[in-house]
Amino acid sequence: MRIILLGAPGSGKGTQAALLAEELGIPAISTGEMLRQAVAAGTPLGEKVKQVMSSGDLVDDATMGEVVKERLARKDANEGFILDGYPRTLAQADLLTEILEEMESELDGVLYLQVPEAVLVERILGRRRADDTEGVIRQRLVVYKRQTQPLVEYYKQRGKLTAIDGDRLIEEVAGAFLEALGRKVNA
Ligand code: AMP
Repeated sequence: MRIILLGAPGSGKGTQAALLAEELGIPAISTGEMLRQAVAAGTPLGEKVKQVMSSGDLVDDATMGEVVKERLARKDANEGFILDGYPRTLAQADLLTEILEEMESELDGVLYLQVPEAVLVERILGRRRADDTEGVIRQRLVVYKRQTQPLVEYYKQRGKLTAIDGDRLIEEVAGAFLEALGRKVNA
């Protein structure tokens, strides 16, 4: 299963990615988490992305392409993966298609977690990390709308998108995800 989880900051993507990964026995790959680890470890990648990340803007597509390509080539991603936080731009989506083609593989589907904006703001203010100011959170939402939201249409046009109502209890959302994937598997 090669799946993308698409959704705004605060949509619950990370939580659902972890639950699904456990259920399906494949890795959840969070590019945000990979970058945060690089920053914490002070690697050259971490040094490069630190400032952009703390502003709420996106790291450039070329850098992210390298990160994702290297990660998908690792052995544990052979049987499948759940991508959480990548792609975030149309250019990244095109590059992902190319990377998968090179690996003679393709996406099974894109699960889009839909949550009303008012709920998103409430949720991220509640879970904010020490360095997240309200300004940075708002910037993340602006960036999401402008750069990432167009991916919903992109994958819809390619027949890959399944929308899921994310404004429910975690277990209910998780159940809906599995049901959506079950339909895909049996289709
Ligand atoms: P996340 O934990 O997914 O919200 O990611 C945290 C931050 O890492 C984002 O606000 C971006 O600055 C950066 N980031 C993570 N994934 C990507 C990506 N696919 N493209 C660009 N920047 C990213």
